[in-house]
Amino acid sequence: MTIDGKTVPTQRSVASPNPEVRHAEARRHLFGAPTADAYREALLLGVDAVASRVTGVEGPFTGISPDALAPEVDQVDLDRPLGDSAAALAELEQLYLRDAVYFHHPRYLAHLNCPVVIPALLGEAVLSAVNSSMDTWDQSAGATLIERRLIDWTAGRIGFGLDADGVFTSGGTQSNLHALVLAREEAFARAGARTSEARQSLLPRMRVLASEAAHFSVSKSAKMLGLPMEAVVSVGTTADRRMDAASLRRECDRLRAEGLTVMAVVATAGTTDFGSIDPLAEAADVCAAASTWLHVDAAYGCGLLVSPTRRHLLAGIERADSVTVDFHKSFFQPVSSSAVVVRDSRMMSHATYYADYLNPARMAERRIPNQVDKSLQTTRRFDALKLWMTLRVMGADGVGALFDEVVDLAGAVHEMLAADPRFEVVGRSQLSTVVFRYRPAAQDAHLADDANLHAREALAASGEGMVAGTKVDGRHFLKCTFLNPRTTPGDVAHVLDLLAAHAAEFIEAAPRGRAADDAS
Ligand SMILES: *Cc1c(COP(=O)(O)O)cnc(C)c1O
Repeated sequence: MTIDGKTVPTQRSVASPNPEVRHAEARRHLFGAPTADAYREALLLGVDAVASRVTGVEGPFTGISPDALAPEVDQVDLDRPLGDSAAALAELEQLYLRDAVYFHHPRYLAHLNCPVVIPALLGEAVLSAVNSSMDTWDQSAGATLIERRLIDWTAGRIGFGLDADGVFTSGGTQSNLHALVLAREEAFARAGARTSEARQSLLPRMRVLASEAAHFSVSKSAKMLGLPMEAVVSVGTTADRRMDAASLRRECDRLRAEGLTVMAVVATAGTTDFGSIDPLAEAADVCAAASTWLHVDAAYGCGLLVSPTRRHLLAGIERADSVTVDFHKSFFQPVSSSAVVVRDSRMMSHATYYADYLNPARMAERRIPNQVDKSLQTTRRFDALKLWMTLRVMGADGVGALFDEVVDLAGAVHEMLAADPRFEVVGRSQLSTVVFRYRPAAQDAHLADDANLHAREALAASGEGMVAGTKVDGRHFLKCTFLNPRTTPGDVAHVLDLLAAHAAEFIEAAPRGRAADDAS
């Protein structure tokens, strides 16, 4: 096979007909056999391949289409191994590394993805190689203690007391699901619904209150928890896209007056689109009055926990019953790294099951720390090590300083856009997003929608930059999410010029009279 003029030796791949040779050959690839050098050499090949990409990449994306890339992936014969790491990496260069989307590029401005810090990557390399599994102490030992220290540390940053607890998860979606599992079980417990019949009769009457800007994983969780379709009741927002506290109070009272059970209020500390932070203290007041579970989804806003200048934006978070934090959003950690943290450690037992073969109850009695007692997962990665290495090398203030930089940048870009007649800009983020759109001279909403959609796609296809899109009050907008401290206002200005040019070109080419057609 030839890739990029280089011959990749597929011939070597033909497995030996002799089973002994075949087994010896396969065993060579096992970690720990035969020498440390094999491990070092193979990993260094990978490090070199990535290092040249990291320093040499010219844009965030090549703009390749799925149709163009699919045949290259399809033609790989998975039953004919290359037998050799260098050859497999050379092949991967074509299939993945060449066209990957690079979040560390300063003109990647699209979704909530961060460039990663090197101490975390070091942790990643160690944790994958040792391959601890966090379910039980006898599969993880020190890893369990490190994860527990980080949960305690995070709880301390939130402002929870010594009774707090929690566990690492695969991401904000799982953290939100986990928190809502606990909230539902607690709602059953508080209602004294112990029997199957009692639970069945209460479940259809359970409701969750969340703002209209909350993350969709809240609705998804409600569905998975067996709640009815109408369970998630949307609370209106104020002009700054924060949950309207007065509406929350009204909705909560209304639902309870109807005999429904408000199982949880979900306040978002950093909405995905607008970076807005719901009024946490007011939400806590409503929950306290109604004896309702308060979950704070700080998947995005958790970076403020370490911000040297903006921690006050999270005031009130310490009154939550549970909090979602996504270290892979705002702590510059590789995916996956997230946690759910609860104020009262006893709540974690709502998701505890004992299995004779793994974590029998007698182990809990002997205080053997089995993290599976707290997790929705069983076999689980030691993701906590990445955060540990990050804190041990650069410290919380270092992470917070980086997060502050991107929030400052978003502020500067907001001003840049507000002063630019080519664009209109929505609200002002408390975090690091900016939602805006190209504004054509002619007042034609449909044309403006199409031009913005086109501009976003054309920008990505050109490989010059990437922005995201979203809808605001039914209209298409563009969105930049800043999580790269190396992005400069100049990078953003360049991307805005490109977007404006693509949008203007689209409008130029639009058939005459279509404004009238669309209006009819
Ligand atoms: C990203 C995000 C989530 C989901 O987190 P994942 O890690 O992608 O599963 C939940 N809530 C908010 C507010 C988010 O921004």
